Amino acid sequence: MKATTVLRHVSWTIGPDPDRDPPAMCAACKDCGEKSSVTTDRKDSDMWALEHAGRTGHRRYDEIVSVGLYARPADEELQ
Ligand SMILES: [Zn+2]
Repeated sequence: MKATTVLRHVSWTIGPDPDRDPPAMCAACKDCGEKSSVTTDRKDSDMWALEHAGRTGHRRYDEIVSVGLYARPADEELQ
């Protein structure tokens, strides 16, 4: 039995996944590393950071966001 593979050079592109869930995010304190719960509502992570700042005096935060991406050959139409 003989296996045959055909290869061709293809340019790929990446962008938002058309079937993605809403972006998920959390806030992370840069002083102590504590993180908010993951949410799809920015107000929740902002409120956590403000409450954390009021309780601890920590003032620097990272906003960590997860967004679904979809890679496909550049000449392939999105379905
Ligand atoms: Zn902190």
